[in-house]
Amino acid sequence: MDRRKFLKTGLLGGVPFLTNGCDSIDTIKISKPIVIATWHTSDDANEAAWDVLESGGYALDAVEAGVKVEEADPNNMTVGYGGRPDREGNVTLDACIMDEKGDCGAVVFLKDIMHPISVARKVMEETPHIMLAGEGAKQFALEQGFEAQNLLTPKAEQAWQKWLKTSEYKPVVNIENHDTIGMLALDKEGRLSGACTTSGAAWKMHGRVGDSPIIGAGLFIDPEVGAACATGLGEEVVKTAGSALIVELMRQGSTPEEACKEAAQRIVDRNKRENRSLKNTQVGYIALNKNGAYGAYGIQKGFNCRVYNTEVGNQRIDAKHLI
Ligand code: ASP
Repeated sequence: MDRRKFLKTGLLGGVPFLTNGCDSIDTIKISKPIVIATWHTSDDANEAAWDVLESGGYALDAVEAGVKVEEADPNNMTVGYGGRPDREGNVTLDACIMDEKGDCGAVVFLKDIMHPISVARKVMEETPHIMLAGEGAKQFALEQGFEAQNLLTPKAEQAWQKWLKTSEYKPVVNIENHDTIGMLALDKEGRLSGACTTSGAAWKMHGRVGDSPIIGAGLFIDPEVGAACATGLGEEVVKTAGSALIVELMRQGSTPEEACKEAAQRIVDRNKRENRSLKNTQVGYIALNKNGAYGAYGIQKGFNCRVYNTEVGNQRIDAKHLI
């Protein structure tokens, strides 16, 4: 029998009984719809996604609607409008989206457009490509009817001015560099989708792109298996192909939580081998398998996420951590 038919469920919940790898997924109760997003502050984003899912809507619409809430929120200083700028004072945005067919779209180094996730979706649906960058991405967005606007809020500008006094690039774990919203959803029809959007690492070099818009790093979906996404120091996620790794581990039988833990462990092991300190490094992963089982894991204490289904409501989950 196909190994893909023996998915186990997540330790954090979602599906009420665990398998030992011997039950066909056909016999497993499937928990759907469901949405999970990085960081407990994503409660409003989850609500927006849930509204779509509960009424029988499409998972792709749900994740887009969900993360747009954070993109438009000036108080979220790591996503979209109000995001912290790079070291030269530019807000530059990265986002990607992926659907149940494994189709995807991304934008990187996009300026002046409040909803990069919607531009990423347009790249997926309206172009023969999967990724547009910088000026080309902005030009495409404008052609698609998006409006250009200044995304640097007075609050973010003040924070930048303050940072300029020391100009020290030293990510603060769980605060400055780790609030990308990544969202995964499974709709009533069993379609999996994901979205990931960020203003990236605060005070990054001009032109820097992290993991969040990179399919396989910041987000990955295999409709036959499940989905994963990342938040945290993007360079570490890219170096270990974090989200693709998690999906592959789930394919081989790991629960979502086990897979997230193993992906976090790879980062820790790699840095240990090179005698590099992980003191200022946080990476958090979330995963959702095609049955609606979910899990999360972080390198350091402090990573959390939010899950919404009929069983738990819109619930905060504090992820386990390695360090
Ligand atoms: N992963 C993002 C990046 O490296 C940062 C974050 O999660 O806040 O660009």
